[in-house]
Amino acid sequence: MPSKLALVLAAATFASAQNITVANLTTGANCACTELAATYGDLVITSNASTYTAEATDYWDIRADLLPGCIFMPTDADQVAVKILTPPQFPGSNINGGVLLALNNMTTITIAADNSTFDVSPGNRWVDVYEALTPYGLYAIGGRLKTIGVPGLELIGGFHYLINKYGYAMDNVLSYDVVLGNGTQVVVNSTSNPDLFWALKGGANNYGIVTKFTVIALPIPYISTTIQTFNESAVPAFIDATANFAANNPPDIAAGSVISITYNQTTGEIVPSLLGVQEGTESPPSRFANFSAIPSTLALNNVLTPIEWHSQLDPPNQMFRVQFASKTMKPNSTQLYQIYEAWKSALEDVSDVEGLVPTFVMNTMPASAASVAMTNGVGNTWGLDDTQSYIIFQYSTGWANASDDLRMLNWASKMLDYWHLQNQELELASEFVYMGDAGDFQDPFAGFPLENVQKMREIRDVYDPLGTFKRLNWGGFKLGN
Ligand SMILES: Cc1cc2nc3c(=O)[nH]c(=O)nc-3n(C[C@H](O)[C@H](O)[C@H](O)COP(=O)(O)OP(=O)(O)OC[C@H]3O[C@@H](n4cnc5c(N)ncnc54)[C@H](O)[C@@H]3O)c2cc1C
Repeated sequence: MPSKLALVLAAATFASAQNITVANLTTGANCACTELAATYGDLVITSNASTYTAEATDYWDIRADLLPGCIFMPTDADQVAVKILTPPQFPGSNINGGVLLALNNMTTITIAADNSTFDVSPGNRWVDVYEALTPYGLYAIGGRLKTIGVPGLELIGGFHYLINKYGYAMDNVLSYDVVLGNGTQVVVNSTSNPDLFWALKGGANNYGIVTKFTVIALPIPYISTTIQTFNESAVPAFIDATANFAANNPPDIAAGSVISITYNQTTGEIVPSLLGVQEGTESPPSRFANFSAIPSTLALNNVLTPIEWHSQLDPPNQMFRVQFASKTMKPNSTQLYQIYEAWKSALEDVSDVEGLVPTFVMNTMPASAASVAMTNGVGNTWGLDDTQSYIIFQYSTGWANASDDLRMLNWASKMLDYWHLQNQELELASEFVYMGDAGDFQDPFAGFPLENVQKMREIRDVYDPLGTFKRLNWGGFKLGN
């Protein structure tokens, strides 16, 4: 994950404004960079600056390391608006030759006087938010690990531990300040531009650049946490506990997890692990009793402040080349075990891939997580109902060399397609694909209700009639025409 927030801008809009051939990206980018540097001086970093490489490679996925023409680091919304050229690119990605807009300088966090909400600028990571809230006994629905950026989660959905009671991160946003494609700044909430308010809740980077989020602050000073690891022999019981947890996690107790099974290429070891969090101070957290009953190699229970918990969960930047790929299904432990077994066998097919770091992740989606959007008068673009729980099974794979990129993509996509088809036949499949767990070859919007996607496109065409974010944003998940 980036320790900063980065948006990627191409220079084509600038180029066309200057009557330069749009196809000539380098010329356009050079013009844009020269103009930006003339106006903003040190806020523009070019390739000869000592900080250029650090900024251009500040990503968790090495595949995102590219060479932007320059990096513009505005300090406020006016600078974003005045110099908006074209919009963001692929999640966490970069751009060769274009203008990278990095919002790391926008790091304000302001807690409301009554402690019920906070305003957060897009350059913050969730750990910054938890750090600001903890002294006030407050918490928020954001990233589960330390370094995840605020804007991604707020715009694509957001899985936190406590979603079964408080909904997804996007459901906790009360207002967005947005710079539109024509440079206009708008406030977006339930009374001001309400159609866009709905569309931003899952609509990702298709509408504008958000320069401020107003988010619900939750009075949760302490959380009960558990870290558990197991031997490979525990996998069947572990998967059974996962399916049970997904299906039986009602909102009377707020609780959630990070559940994964990792394979160590060097030792051949398989390690199932649980990071569990429950609201309050009951320790060990009772919602994870099914996991606690399995003989473990480690069981560490604690009552912590949110910042104490999150600050220890620190995935490094520039880990390796990383690919997520996922599908969603009803919680059925027999089928889930088969999917796991197939993943484990398929590791043999890629055992010669250098630096292989494969993880089988199971993200639980309790039915009640959808209740918040169903009852808050706003809704969200996912359109889920709150009668069915799901599990996202995700292949998270790291590797070392670019020459293996295509091979690893095919490896994951073939398995996904096969098991999704099997799940369809067993009536276990959901077409929902969470953007945060999706591979770049997947289309999360295809899993949204069709009428929602149609409405999202109509709203996009109203707020971005020139198609700035549609045409000139070269990556990320696009709504299509
Ligand atoms: C180690 C790791 C842990 C993760 N844990 C979780 C988790 O706990 N829960 C979860 O839900 N997901 C998780 N994810 C997935 C995560 O949701 C996505 O990676 C997400 O894109 C991260 O958001 P970001 O702001 O850090 O990233 P970015 O990649 O910088 O941004 C995401 C997208 O939003 C766009 N964007 C960024 N800023 C703005 C803005 N101000 N206005 C408009 N568009 C903008 C970008 O262009 C990009 O398309 C995890 C990923 C990793 C690698």
